[in-house]
Amino acid sequence: MKKSVVTFFVLIITVMILLVPSSEAVSSAKTLQDLKNELASLKKQQSSTGSSQKLTKDQINSTKNNIYSKQSEIEKNQNRIVEAQNESAALEVEIENGKEELGEILSAYQIANGDNVYLEYIFESKTFEDLVYRYAVMEQVMNYQDERIAAWKNKIDQNTQLKLELQEREKTLNSQISSLNKEVNKLGDKLAELDEMILDINAEIKSVQENIKFYESIGCGLNEKLETCLSVKGDRVFSRPLVKASRISSEFGYRTHPVTHQPNKFHSGTDISVTEGSNVYPVANGTVFKIVRKSSCGGNMVYIQHLVNGKKWTSCSMHLLTINVKIGQQVTSQTVIGLSGGKTTGYKYGGYDQCTTGAHLHLSLATGWYEKDYTSYNTYRSRLVNPRSYINMPKGGWSSRY
Ligand SMILES: [Zn+2]
Repeated sequence: MKKSVVTFFVLIITVMILLVPSSEAVSSAKTLQDLKNELASLKKQQSSTGSSQKLTKDQINSTKNNIYSKQSEIEKNQNRIVEAQNESAALEVEIENGKEELGEILSAYQIANGDNVYLEYIFESKTFEDLVYRYAVMEQVMNYQDERIAAWKNKIDQNTQLKLELQEREKTLNSQISSLNKEVNKLGDKLAELDEMILDINAEIKSVQENIKFYESIGCGLNEKLETCLSVKGDRVFSRPLVKASRISSEFGYRTHPVTHQPNKFHSGTDISVTEGSNVYPVANGTVFKIVRKSSCGGNMVYIQHLVNGKKWTSCSMHLLTINVKIGQQVTSQTVIGLSGGKTTGYKYGGYDQCTTGAHLHLSLATGWYEKDYTSYNTYRSRLVNPRSYINMPKGGWSSRY
């Protein structure tokens, strides 16, 4: 019972793993050019997001300034209300004083008692002239005081009106400040979003740049699918192409040709003496990209593109008896690409290959990827190097691959 539950979960997890799409699989259909386009568009986004960031910051600042100016207007208005209230209070006192003053004036004319003082004052006139005089005095005094009090009252009314207006204005300003504060909050949210966006964009740019650097370092073509480019599996070190070899029979470079005996003939690789029919291995992981069969010089040949320690190489194994691989095949350093020949394939022994005098493997090594980085055979030849400078192959032979 327990066992079947475990099996069930293992099954579920396996299915889940299989269903999750690998991000590498998605990106590998792209080309280096796609990555460069991506980078350009990311940089555009970076710049436009940066502009939006700056614009939003400016908007926040100007909105805050707007709020400050409205707050300072409210403060000023509150001061003006206090001033108006103080002035009105002072005017009330003035009015009281004015009324008192009138009483004093009237009493100076001995007319200050009771409600009917003015009438009494007038009717107490002894003569008609006195009556006219008293009436004129009364009128003057009353008019003067009335005018003063009316002016004060008017001013008080004005102050009351001003206070109402200012209070109304404060209400308006406060509601404006409240919506501006909301605006500031919104802008703040937007800015936070933009800040996050720019961080994401920057990280994305960094990763795309790293990808571009990597794919360029392994020599992918601009329009080559990265998937294809990556199919040349890298390796860290070279290995010997044979498990066992008796000796190095001919070195890379200029020599007298062993068959034609022409002097100063260029030898494109290292000849390794080995029993015919021995397994031949790639010198590193790689992709087979070219096979030549029964060439009159070189016989059966296998060309492989390698990536060793981040550097690109092309190797070629010649004089093979058989070929076990196909074009496009990915090989590891453990794949048997064919069997060594050189004797029965040799011309001297009735074979087709005029460039071998005995059982051996010819190994060539060139920098870069032939038929990918460059296509001409002359370029390939100019890029040939001495294999023994890069692969540990002792002159006296060996009996293991490393
Ligand atoms: Zn050779």
